[in-house]
Amino acid sequence: MFEALTARPPDSILALVQMYRDDPRQTKVDLGVGVYKDATGLTPIMRAVKTAEKQLWDVQDTKVYTGLAGDPAFSDAMINLVLGTAVARDAVASVATPGGTGAVRQAFELVQMARPDARVFVSDPTWPNHLSILGYLNVDVVNYRYFDEETRGVDFDGMIADLKTAKSGDVVLLHGCCHNPTGANLNLTQWQAVIDVLLETGAVPMIDIAYQGFGDGLDEDAAATRLVASSVPECLIAASCSKNFGIYRERTGVLMVVSQSTQARKLHQDTLAFLNRQNFSFPPDHGARLVTMILTDDALRADWMAELEEVRGNMLDLRSQLAAELQRLSGSDRFGFLAQHRGMFSRLGTTQDKVIEMREKHAIYMVGDSRMNIAGLNAQTVPILAQAIIDAGV
Ligand code: PMP
Repeated sequence: MFEALTARPPDSILALVQMYRDDPRQTKVDLGVGVYKDATGLTPIMRAVKTAEKQLWDVQDTKVYTGLAGDPAFSDAMINLVLGTAVARDAVASVATPGGTGAVRQAFELVQMARPDARVFVSDPTWPNHLSILGYLNVDVVNYRYFDEETRGVDFDGMIADLKTAKSGDVVLLHGCCHNPTGANLNLTQWQAVIDVLLETGAVPMIDIAYQGFGDGLDEDAAATRLVASSVPECLIAASCSKNFGIYRERTGVLMVVSQSTQARKLHQDTLAFLNRQNFSFPPDHGARLVTMILTDDALRADWMAELEEVRGNMLDLRSQLAAELQRLSGSDRFGFLAQHRGMFSRLGTTQDKVIEMREKHAIYMVGDSRMNIAGLNAQTVPILAQAIIDAGV
């Protein structure tokens, strides 16, 4: 029966990881896969996570199933973290999911169930897995302009013009902060203009927030999501704990449906639980439990926030160092955008040929669309990357 299967193209980012591993050059620099690394190249377990794990080992006396929605305390803690007091708690239906990816997948399935003819508007470019999952589910995708290749900022006018073509019942996928893959983000005034278009068209926003705390701070990075959630009649939020808690492999995420009515909330909650049941029954619990412990314990939360600030500060420092080195080498400010971008990624904005040239000549591994993981750098490799960029004539 399986003869009919056809080979799928390998995931380009995962393929790059393998190429990097196979490269014998000592000076190789991995700017590919989106994980945070410290100055020694390690992706550490955060202190608060370690402490919570020790505490959990002591107090946990069962691993019996949780509910289909996961532990309600996890949802409460995450609603608090992402939405603060922007909307009433009883306006939010929420389930734990296997990572942010699980939340994204369930969100698209929910859209399909509710509105089989809905189109999903995605930024050009977006996280490739958005497109892959939408394609897999056979959902109609519409690209909206996002990245301005000239300025390496947001093509805001293009974005607004494209979003105006959405219709009531379409979904507009937005990155809550730290846009992946570009690093270019809207300011709050621009977010307000996007909200005005959503209200005008009746399209429903879906916010994917996978890097809260990696850009300008925990509350700052959630500000746009909060503004949207408190301004529109309905919205979807997919949040990941992989990066900001450093618990990538624990598969911890949450999907929220925010609506204005408590009555609707019950239906949304039941439908989300139903979707969990069909796909995997109970969501993973270990990471969710750690996150709940950290967010609800003053000492653990303070330690986590302090370490997250260090992580954020390191990435900002690397951005400034890289922009300064490029300014020195090029004698121009044209790389200033690297210091303006936020989050783990920046899109350099160059051709695939130049990306390959940098890989072959300088052992710099960035994704083919010239996405660089800034956290893959350190003080020693910043000058190597800067030189490679100049040599390639970017
Ligand atoms: N959305 C975006 C935009 C992401 O970059 C990621 C992580 N690469 C995710 C969602 C989901 O991550 P995870 O499933 O590992 O939590």
